[in-house]
Amino acid sequence: MGLIAIDLDGTLINNQHEISAENINAIKQAQEHGHTVVIGTGRAYFDVQEILGKASLSLYTIGANGATAHSPSGTSILSVPMPSTKAKKIAMWLEKKDIYYEVFCENAIYVLKGARDILFQEVDSLRDKVSNEDFQFINMHLEKQLSQTGYVFVDSFQEIFDTKDKIYNILAYSFINEKRVTGINEFKEEKELTLVTSSPFNFELEHQEASKGNAIAYLAKVLNLDLNVSMAVGDSENDISMFKVVTDSFAMDNASDEVKGHAKHITSNNDENGVAKAIYQFIELNK
Ligand code: CA
Repeated sequence: MGLIAIDLDGTLINNQHEISAENINAIKQAQEHGHTVVIGTGRAYFDVQEILGKASLSLYTIGANGATAHSPSGTSILSVPMPSTKAKKIAMWLEKKDIYYEVFCENAIYVLKGARDILFQEVDSLRDKVSNEDFQFINMHLEKQLSQTGYVFVDSFQEIFDTKDKIYNILAYSFINEKRVTGINEFKEEKELTLVTSSPFNFELEHQEASKGNAIAYLAKVLNLDLNVSMAVGDSENDISMFKVVTDSFAMDNASDEVKGHAKHITSNNDENGVAKAIYQFIELNK
C-alpha cells in the first residue's frame, strides 16, 4: 500500500511539545489500512527516537532532512554524509561570522563549549527592540532549539572532525536577520550542498543529494511502496521536497504562504490535530 510522510516540529508535535492522542490514533488507523508511516524531519535520528518513544510509536524515520533513514527497529537504511573537508570549511566560516551552529552526526549533536552564549547575547540585544509578543516567540524558539537529545560539547571544531563520526547536517542558527541572510547567501549557490530552512531562525546544510523528498523516493523503492498512493504533511520550506514526490501534499495551517503554495491541500494547525485530519482525508481519498 501507500506511504505517509509526516514532519515533526510544527506538524505532528503540538505547541506543548507533545504528539496528541488524536494524532497517535490516526497514525495507527493509517497503519491498519496498510499504509507505511514515515517521519521526515530535520532532527537527528536519536532525538526523534526519544520523541516517538514518549508516544509509544515505532516508525520509519527520515532524519537530518533526508541524510539518514532508519527502520522502526533502528536499522540504518540510508546514509548520505557530507564530506568532512566541506563541513570543516562551513564550520570555520560560521565561526568567523559569529554564527551559532550545531553539527549533526551519526552519534551526537556537537556544539562548541560557550557557543550558546552567542544566542543568549542575540536575544538580550533584541529585548528592547521587538514587541513583547515577538520576544516571547523568540524565547519559545530558543528553548525548543536547546532542548534536543544528544548534545556533546567540544572545545574546538577540530575535535568534532577528529571523532570521525559521520557528519549529516550543519545547522546554523541566529535571531539576527542580517547574519542569517549573509549565511544563506554564502552557501545557497554551492552545488555540493543542499540548503534548507526548518524554522524562522535557521538554515541547514547537507550533502547535495540529501533531502526529505529524495529519502522518501528511496524508501518507497526499497520497501516496494506505491508512490501513487502517498501523502506528506509539513509546515516548513524543508518539507517542499516531500510535497513534490507524493500524490497528496498537505500544508499545515500554521505554514507560511510560500509553503502552502506548494501543497495540494491545507489542513488544520499543529495545535488542532492537523496531521490526524490530513490522514483521515487521505484514507478517504484512497478507499
Ligand atoms: Ca517543521
